[in-house]
Parts: sequence; C-alpha cells; structure tokens
Amino acid sequence: MAHDIDPTTQLHLTYVYGPVPSRRLGLSLGVNPLPVETKVCNFDCPYCECGWTVSDRPTGRLPSVEVLVSELETKLAACRERGLHLDAITFAGNGEPTLHPNFRQILETACRLRDTYAPQAKVAVLTNATRLRQPDVRAGLMRADIRQFKLDAGTETMFRRVDRPFGKLTLARIVDDICAFDAPKMLQSMFFRGRSGGALIDNTAPEEVAAWLQHVARIHPTEVHLYSLDRTAAEPTLEKVTQAELEAIAEQVRALGIPAVTYS
Ligand code: SF4
Repeated sequence: MAHDIDPTTQLHLTYVYGPVPSRRLGLSLGVNPLPVETKVCNFDCPYCECGWTVSDRPTGRLPSVEVLVSELETKLAACRERGLHLDAITFAGNGEPTLHPNFRQILETACRLRDTYAPQAKVAVLTNATRLRQPDVRAGLMRADIRQFKLDAGTETMFRRVDRPFGKLTLARIVDDICAFDAPKMLQSMFFRGRSGGALIDNTAPEEVAAWLQHVARIHPTEVHLYSLDRTAAEPTLEKVTQAELEAIAEQVRALGIPAVTYS
C-alpha cells in the first residue's frame, strides 16, 4: 500500500495511511484525524515534517467520525486479507491528533476495530500533550496502549523556540499535566540545532539538557525516545545531531533509572 504524502507540502493525503514501517512502532497503520489539505496544530515546530502551521483551530474540513471509521475499517480489512501483521495503529497525521473534537470516540472505535481485525496491534497516540486538561482527551488517551508525549525543551525560552506554541501554553503547565496523567506514558524528544525566526536553537546545549533532565526525572516515563531530523523540516536549514550526541543524552536518562532509546 502506498504511503500517500504530498511531495510539496509533506501532508498526508488520506485520513488513514500506510501501513508504513515506523522507526519506533514497527509496521504501523497511521490515522490522521485532521484535514488532508492543511496542517492543524497548536505548536509550530520548525522541525515539523508537515511544514509550517497555518491554523491551530480544527475548523473547516475535519473528517467526520463516520468517514474516519469507515476508512480505517476498509484498510484494516485489506491488511488482514493480505496477511500483513500490524504492530500498531498510530494516531498522528497532519498536526495534533487530539485537536479533533471527537478524538475520544474515534480512538475508542479504533480500539474496537483493532480487536476485530488486528488484535496483536497496539493503538498508539503521538501527541504534544497540550490537551491533557480536556476530560475527553484524557479519557481517550487512557484507552490507548501507547502514549508518546512530546518533550523537546528544558526551559521556557527553548520551548518557545523549539515548539513555538500558540496562545498561553507554557512548558511548566505541560510538564505538570504530563505528571498528573495517571497512566504509563512515554516521552519523545527531538534534538537538533540551527536558526529559525532569527533565534539560535540548540536544545543539546548542556544547560538545556540539564533542565530537560529535571522534567524527565519528575515525569518518570516508562521510556524516552530521543531522535533527530528524519525528513524535510519546515525550516530546511536545521541541522541533525549525531547518533553519538543522542546517545550521550540518552546515557544521562538511563542514569536516572529510565530506559532510553535513540533514533537517528
Ligand atoms: S507538535 Fe507535531 S505536528 Fe505540531 S508542529 Fe510540532 S511536530 Fe508538527
């Protein structure tokens, strides 16, 4: 099956895509509960693979629950017919998946379809953890098997450069919300350096890593995934960090008694 990505915008062209081999999750069927013609996110990370954020509001052409569920069932049935062994059904796509107002309903339905068509597959959500105060989002995430929360910075200054949040979102609030989320959780952290919007970005600087480690220790996730740039970033001049640099940071995570895996 083709991995349908627009070569110009890097946006997923469908609501359900793949399956694709994921570096972190194995053979994964992707669910994009967001528009196919534009990215919707409340962050505007310069490293984003979907380009710059146009809107933080999921207005306009959001897929309905019916359309998403129908596409997912069709794909799952096709995978089963082809004898494909899915490892994951992953919510990600063209922005922040928890921004869909029916996120919980879609995720719960995905779990039921998984039970029917691919009981071995884990339902995973990649999220920037900004919507954990919404009861419905929290309840939906509770139903997932894997929750990967984004944590890219240790200080508010670096957070504003690396993730460029909309509105009044702060790193302190997000870390508090992740700590209060009472279920096993993983962290995913992107490291890179470069310049964007006139500001220098280097979240691998020792003082930044030290501040980030304090949050990691407080959250105490089941695992931390550290990675660097893989596909074309919104800001194309950014630099990938080396595997050795990622490993050096990962070692400091392991010293806290928390497993860490690097992907370069
Ligand atoms: S949170 Fe994810 S989707 Fe949103 S801008 Fe950052 S990388 Fe892109």
